[in-house]
Amino acid sequence: KQAAYAKLRDVEPFTRCGTRIQVMMNAGLRDDISALALTGADGVGLFRTEFQFLVSATLPQRERQLKLYRDVLDAAGDKPVVFRTVDIGGDKAVPYLASEIARNDENPAMGWRALRLALTREGLMKAQARSLLEAAAGRSLHVMFPMVSEVWEFDAAKQVFEEQLAFLRAKKKMVPEQVHYGAMLEVPALAEVLDLLLPRLSFISVGTNDLTQFLFAADRANPALAQRYDWLSVAIMRFMRRLVQATVGSNVEIGVCGEMGGRRLEALALLGIGFRRLSITPAAVGPIKELVRKVDLAEIEAAMTGWLSDPSVNLRDELSQWASDREI
Ligand code: PEP
Ligand code: MG
Repeated sequence: KQAAYAKLRDVEPFTRCGTRIQVMMNAGLRDDISALALTGADGVGLFRTEFQFLVSATLPQRERQLKLYRDVLDAAGDKPVVFRTVDIGGDKAVPYLASEIARNDENPAMGWRALRLALTREGLMKAQARSLLEAAAGRSLHVMFPMVSEVWEFDAAKQVFEEQLAFLRAKKKMVPEQVHYGAMLEVPALAEVLDLLLPRLSFISVGTNDLTQFLFAADRANPALAQRYDWLSVAIMRFMRRLVQATVGSNVEIGVCGEMGGRRLEALALLGIGFRRLSITPAAVGPIKELVRKVDLAEIEAAMTGWLSDPSVNLRDELSQWASDREI
């Protein structure tokens, strides 16, 4: 695996027409960060902080969180790391909260999870905010919130960070040079109020694993539904194209951090609807960088525009033919 990573490490993801695409990687453990250097990824576009919570028998205390985040930032060096605040609940049950979650959740994916849980468990959110702010003292902190459904939730989460920041300043502690706030777009309702959200943040990351399960009302963890929809459906692509278009003219960066970005045809489609930043599984970084170099953006954009104007099109077949015609 290391040899395969190394071969493509120095490939720079410029498209044939000369646009630099950001190819970042997803991670969740301290040890994952070594893949940054091995793959040549541009940074960690999604660090799933809940991994530490999932492998722990008790709620990880502040000191342990601080150590992990600091180690991750040290290991990443100059490359940015986007920390996602805890996304527990749903399919990611933790023993010390299991009974609370189970009591209320017949439908865990749509239940008391992620930011909803963090905002009601204020101590948990505060401890995480403080740990992240302290870990990033003197450097940049990128933080994003999962499962934001309404603008007030983003505001409330950001406020927890701002309060902790003020606390640290009052204590004359060193704080981050900059804090960049972002939201994951996983809940379709948020897309309808993007105009309100955009002035409040610096980036959006589309979590297509959850977004697509909500768009199709199809549980992502249920194998019986795996064949019932395709990430490459006209509906999903039209929806996501609107997200990109909504950010045009703003200073907000938009990317995708769901698994689909690491797959060949899906990555092509995402480039074709305007995405310029993907955060993907480390094993896919090399292959996707290579793919990017073979793509002419104007060409794939024109093709996608045509296909998306016809809902009867089978996008997977079209993309597959398009790619093989060009030996991509
Ligand atoms: C997603 O939902 O697409 C995502 C990246 O988050 P997770 O898979 O951790 O829910
Ligand atoms: Mg998600």
